[in-house]
Amino acid sequence: MPNISIEKRNDLLGVHVVHALKSRHFEAYYYKTSNEAVEKILQLIPRKESVSWGGSTTIEEIGLIKRLRADYDRALDRDQTTSIADRYEAMQKAFFCDNYLMSANAISEDGQLVNVDGNGNRVAAMAFGPKRVIVVAGINKVVKTLDDAMVRARTYASPINAQRVSSLDLKTPCIATGTCTDCKTADCICTYIVTTRISRPQGRIQVVLIGETLGF
Ligand code: SF4
Repeated sequence: MPNISIEKRNDLLGVHVVHALKSRHFEAYYYKTSNEAVEKILQLIPRKESVSWGGSTTIEEIGLIKRLRADYDRALDRDQTTSIADRYEAMQKAFFCDNYLMSANAISEDGQLVNVDGNGNRVAAMAFGPKRVIVVAGINKVVKTLDDAMVRARTYASPINAQRVSSLDLKTPCIATGTCTDCKTADCICTYIVTTRISRPQGRIQVVLIGETLGF
């Protein structure tokens, strides 16, 4: 039996993708564990600055949201609002935050990020607004090519995301079947499909890649 190490493969791939991201002017980091990554992310966000985040299983899973709520006086948390109007206002205010956290639905090995968004607030903040955007992703989000990233985001991540927001009682085919049919329903969560090829200004988007399976 040969000596198989998934961890070694992840570490090598992580370093490779960090180089690819840097060639596209992203700041990029690779950490083996989410604990190390969380400490780095908290160092990246000055305590006095404002911070908000988009919907993400990954940043919830690694305990980051809990830390932001506890440690940052200027954390803007839409989930702490009590009405739809307040929630919407919090989502709008997030565009003016110093720091915005989110994940990616897929990352190609050559350093491009793909995100699918229903309301568009997450991809809008990524493209313009917050001073610093920090993208946190498990190594499971990395795929070979940009085409593969698009397939991952649309046919794997999105049907699961539709399930994730099932409390909204969305009527999409993927919720019933588990597979994407490229629907045009009014409830479709695949409204905006955004590829981020480079970070402009240089270093505004910072990617923290983690050698673990996180999110979906
Ligand atoms: S079926 Fe519609 S909502 Fe579901 S993943 Fe496909 S395009 Fe998105």
